[in-house]
Amino acid sequence: MTLPDIKDTDCLLIIDVQKDFCTGGSLAVPDAEAILPWINTNGEHFNNIVLTQDWHPAGHSSFASVHDKQAPFDTITMPYGDQMLWPDHCVQGTDGAHFHDELKTTAAQLVIRKGFRTDIDSYSAFYENDHVTTTGLSGYLKERGVQRVFCVGLALDYCVRFSALDARREGFETVVVEAGCRGINANGSNDDAREAMQSAGVQLL
Ligand SMILES: [Zn+2]
Repeated sequence: MTLPDIKDTDCLLIIDVQKDFCTGGSLAVPDAEAILPWINTNGEHFNNIVLTQDWHPAGHSSFASVHDKQAPFDTITMPYGDQMLWPDHCVQGTDGAHFHDELKTTAAQLVIRKGFRTDIDSYSAFYENDHVTTTGLSGYLKERGVQRVFCVGLALDYCVRFSALDARREGFETVVVEAGCRGINANGSNDDAREAMQSAGVQLL
């Protein structure tokens, strides 16, 4: 797959390429490692690279283990809306929270950590799941003159999806490169994500 011409005003947003989301991790996305060649090769073309890192305190409210009688992938109602419950993952400072060993991170200028507030989850690189609390990323990109955001990473149907939708909402031209993404794909959620992104004006490559 060839990229469109990359400009100085483009940013590559690499979402949650962490050990817990890869093979052997506690919330492994199928075939996750297949995204590494695309990201490592094409990352070289971008002047602006931002990484996100899911970064939960132990006992985070999105973990099924802290809720009585709930299992991973159940949905509960939180004050901010529906919340899918997950196996414990990406606990701050643990090995599983580290970036995949083969991910080239040297050229990245910023790491946005998210999900660090116990009572609220954060799928998007821009907003927590209340869609109000900001991570500051939009302001950072705008102050640096970024106009277009290329999204890659894990998982297509959750954190990539919500990051891309918020990038559009914040007024960025937004491209999701599928060669650089893999999804959990429970109950057709990859297709749901593609449909939601396309109808919001996100370009899928
Ligand atoms: Zn998480």
